[in-house]
Amino acid sequence: MANGEVFTPKPKPGEPWGVIIIGSGPAALTAAIYTTRGAASTLILGGEKWGGQLMLTTTVDNWPGAPGIQGPDLMQKMREHSIMFGAEFLQKNAGGIDVGKKPFEVTTGGVKYLTKAVIVATGAETKWLPAPGVSEFVGRGVSSCAPCDAPFFKGKKVAVVGGGDSAMEEALTLSKYATEIAIIHRRDAFRASAAMQQKVLSDPKIKILWNTEVREVVGNQKVEKVVLVDNKTKQTSELILDGIFIAIGHTPSTNIFSGKIELDEKGYVAVKDHTKTSVPGVFVAGDVHDYHYKQAVTAAGFGCMAAMDTIKYLEGFKISGG
Ligand code: NAP
Repeated sequence: MANGEVFTPKPKPGEPWGVIIIGSGPAALTAAIYTTRGAASTLILGGEKWGGQLMLTTTVDNWPGAPGIQGPDLMQKMREHSIMFGAEFLQKNAGGIDVGKKPFEVTTGGVKYLTKAVIVATGAETKWLPAPGVSEFVGRGVSSCAPCDAPFFKGKKVAVVGGGDSAMEEALTLSKYATEIAIIHRRDAFRASAAMQQKVLSDPKIKILWNTEVREVVGNQKVEKVVLVDNKTKQTSELILDGIFIAIGHTPSTNIFSGKIELDEKGYVAVKDHTKTSVPGVFVAGDVHDYHYKQAVTAAGFGCMAAMDTIKYLEGFKISGG
């Protein structure tokens, strides 16, 4: 098969798609490369704001083979790659899903699409602090991913906001590069596991600012300082720094799946076996179920796995007619 040859036909009118992939981050677009090459007709409902979290990133240094690529450029390449073998990409939001009948139905803007299988790859959104300056400086000193961005802060001063396991991990990752790390936490106790707390508390580069909240992130071209407030004494102070990592959690994008497929207590899709969900024929990939790794490359890996499981499921579908 020649490189880039389109060989996956679209379904005839009235027939279901082989698979509808909901989402358009690395998990979704990798899945599409595999489902089309596995000969499943593939529709990607990529969302009006397509591309996921890498669209909000600047330099990406941990995508294998392309160090230094810009996040939006990487996603554009993935989008082009995902349709190379015949997937159709609609830049529309999936508005609803009915998995109670077969084929399944996915609606977008009043249009109903039938499909034998679904891959849920809608991702999760970083919770950013509502403080002024935070969203303005994302990619210019404000980050939510130390494994991605810590090397940019070699020899610099940084802060991490949050008191959970993510905040601990971010601080420990940053400790390999930055000279000083302040963890800014709104309470006087962490919720992170005891083991993670222990590592953080015994790291001489990390200091903890308890009962402290970020009032504002201030800078010019990039972050220069934060204004803090002690929520007990109400005293404000300033902390000069080069970067601030927000680790106050993520929100999985699962609204349309609530009551349709099983979600866990935090709203992430519950995984049954590798990439299966509670509904046979509905698979899941990426940050919408993975709150642990949250990397583009792991999401892409999950996309590959979900696509391979989908192809297997569709082969059974053909045999049973079902
Ligand atoms: P999390 O456990 O929900 O912690 C979020 C932290 O952010 C909390 O300390 C919370 O403060 C703080 N926070 C929330 N909203 C805030 C706001 N508006 N302003 C200031 N602070 C705010 O989230 P996570 O750390 O991302 O972890 C998510 C899940 O993944 C957890 O189950 C965690 O155990 C797991 N995880 C595990 C590992 C690991 O095992 N290595 C690594 C990462 C994550 P309060 O404490 O005051 O509520």
